[in-house]
Amino acid sequence: MTSPSLSLSHELFSKLRTHLVIAKTTESTRNLCKSTLYLFLAIATPFIAYRGYQSFTMFWSSSSPYSPKTDAESLRRQRVSSSKLHDPDVSSKAPVIYSSYYDISFLGIEKLHPFDSSKWGRICQFLISEGYLEKSSIVEPLEASTEDLLVVHTEAYLNSLKNSLTVAKITEVAPVAMLPNWLVQMKVLYPFRRQVGGTVLAAKFAKERGWAINVGGGFHHCSGGRGGGFCAYADISLCIHFAFVRSNISRVMIIDLDAHQGNGHEMDFGNDERVYILDMYNPGIYPFDMTARNYINQKVEVVTGTTTDEYLKQLDKALAVAGSSFAPELIIYNAGTDILDGDPLGGLKVSPDGVVRRDEKVFRFARERSIPIVMVTSGGYMKTSARVIANSIINLSKKGLIDTSVRSSGRR
Ligand SMILES: [Zn+2]
Repeated sequence: MTSPSLSLSHELFSKLRTHLVIAKTTESTRNLCKSTLYLFLAIATPFIAYRGYQSFTMFWSSSSPYSPKTDAESLRRQRVSSSKLHDPDVSSKAPVIYSSYYDISFLGIEKLHPFDSSKWGRICQFLISEGYLEKSSIVEPLEASTEDLLVVHTEAYLNSLKNSLTVAKITEVAPVAMLPNWLVQMKVLYPFRRQVGGTVLAAKFAKERGWAINVGGGFHHCSGGRGGGFCAYADISLCIHFAFVRSNISRVMIIDLDAHQGNGHEMDFGNDERVYILDMYNPGIYPFDMTARNYINQKVEVVTGTTTDEYLKQLDKALAVAGSSFAPELIIYNAGTDILDGDPLGGLKVSPDGVVRRDEKVFRFARERSIPIVMVTSGGYMKTSARVIANSIINLSKKGLIDTSVRSSGRR
């Protein structure tokens, strides 16, 4: 039993305790809420700030004159400006560019392709042994780096070359697909990247000296987003973009006289009024690229079986039209020798002397107009091609259209 006074004080004490518990609970709930809020803010603030930044940049890009296209162009200019490909000193050299790294030869795999993959070295050997070139006066180009290649190529395309199967398809050498990619990079793609460096450097040389010959290069089937027909990198497109930025050139003529259509540079410059394309090709052979054909400024189709005289007559006419249609500040001459009679892929019947006369016509065209010219050797699939190219360079020298001696090769 309990007394009433004791019961009352017990009741009061109980109420007081209840209030205290409630007060304590409210206090801890408040603290919990506070902690939760701080935690939320800590997590959410960077996210909110990031979304705010995104909204700002979206608003900026849609409302400012700096469109994504302008951004891509300024990134391209930035890449070209910071590249080292124009660095080699050419002042005491002949405008002939070559590196022993050009030549592809390993495990006998080069024999599986109808391409004479050491023709570049053989051309130089002929010129040196016959006294038309000193070994020490040849300019060695640098390898085009990934940043250099991104001037034209998409990242996705360059990544696709990390798959040996893709490289096998591009080079048309099936066993390449079985090789580890590091080996493909070292033995196939590295030589090509050196040749790309050569074509890019040739434009600088040509601007300074009037002409330049990259003993390799001319991968005219490759565009920024796609390779093919033994062409893994778009050296012609890269050379032109470098010339725009580094050599202050704004009008370029491509004269593509390889037997095949140059669909790579055509896709890259299809809507670019700074570039005029004269392409003389056999329409009955690879690559049958009808879309790229729409982008040729002057299309000259020479059918299978066309012989020397007919070919050269068509070339005379084409050069006359090109000369009156466009005034370039630089000519890129893609001088493939697969127009030679007997070439298994070109289908044309031009004689070795016809090739020599062809090259002379193009160099004379440039000389008469005082336009710097870059020559790249491109396709040419027979063992005799190297000899014909060397003969042609010797002829250009004899006719005074080029001068391969170091001391006297001054500005034209
Ligand atoms: Zn070709």
